[in-house]
Amino acid sequence: MWHKTILKAWRELAGGLGDLALPAVCAACGTADVAAEGLCADCNVKLLSLVSLPYCQRCGATIGPGIPVYQDGCSACPNPLPRFARVARLGPYADPLRAVVRELKYRRREWLHSHRLGQMLGRAVEASSLENLDLVMPVPMHWRRRLARSCDHARVLAGAVARELNLPLGDELIRIRHTPPQVHLSRTRRIENVRGAFGVRRAAGLSGANVLLVDDVTTTGATADEAARTLLKAGISKVVLAVIAKAEPPTAYAAHWA
Ligand SMILES: [Zn+2]
Ligand SMILES: [Zn+2]
Repeated sequence: MWHKTILKAWRELAGGLGDLALPAVCAACGTADVAAEGLCADCNVKLLSLVSLPYCQRCGATIGPGIPVYQDGCSACPNPLPRFARVARLGPYADPLRAVVRELKYRRREWLHSHRLGQMLGRAVEASSLENLDLVMPVPMHWRRRLARSCDHARVLAGAVARELNLPLGDELIRIRHTPPQVHLSRTRRIENVRGAFGVRRAAGLSGANVLLVDDVTTTGATADEAARTLLKAGISKVVLAVIAKAEPPTAYAAHWA
């Protein structure tokens, strides 16, 4: 349809111009002194300190200082435990990680961020890897949202992670139902909201595979849990989740810097 083509072309042009017109300022604090990767020197250090925080490999929550990390979960883990077997994350959803995720989402310095985050996330997966992974899949966006955004940032990120891990990028997991945004919903409401949102195509080729599921941010894990439920039902053997950030209250990680 011609109007969709024109719309897409316009968005690509506007997106490109947005990049060109973007002043060279730090994505997180706005200072004009950008050191590397779209961040100033201070924010690059802060980003690394977020990434080095210990976290629970079952739910992705930050673990307090001095508390041992158990493979089987932490006190913040939901009950029942999520269907995905493990989580690899970069850090809590806080600046400068939050600012970088936002830039990726709104296609500012998209290539730079997806490349860097994909590399870091790939390494986080490798560091915590207990099993062989067969392929990478993004948590898919519904086509209506993709059309509105003109880009599926989870797919861009999953592609970068797949390149880092030398694994194929799958598109078998699809969104079959448009769901309202999850923000401001409780965990119970989120679970209801995403129920039946996903489907799997060409499931026969996936039987017994270990899948790395990639998303930008997880809050309660309800969306990833439903995606994992759908994949496991389709014959996938194991699902491991990789996210840039876990949304959690600042009290969850503040003790590390107290
Ligand atoms: Zn900064
Ligand atoms: Zn946990």
